Amino acid sequence: MPLYVYRCRVAAEACDSCRDGVEVFQKISEAALTACPECGKPVVRLLHATPTVRDSSDKKILSDENLKKHGFKKLVNAGGGKFDEAV
Ligand SMILES: [Zn+2]
Repeated sequence: MPLYVYRCRVAAEACDSCRDGVEVFQKISEAALTACPECGKPVVRLLHATPTVRDSSDKKILSDENLKKHGFKKLVNAGGGKFDEAV
């Protein structure tokens, strides 16, 4: 179930929860909240913190070139309990 973040529309009227963003677990099919669960002031949905679709940037981050650039080593299982250094 995705985690959604709501923040009060009017910062001056926000309570401690919705001033910095209140996190609410909701089903994707559920309608967005319109009011803060704590103080009832109008809120706007910002984002869901747990993306359900991974984008291609993950592949880029874990590319051999990027690992090398940042000083990481990549080991590849060569079988028989041995690992070869690929980067
Ligand atoms: Zn509130």
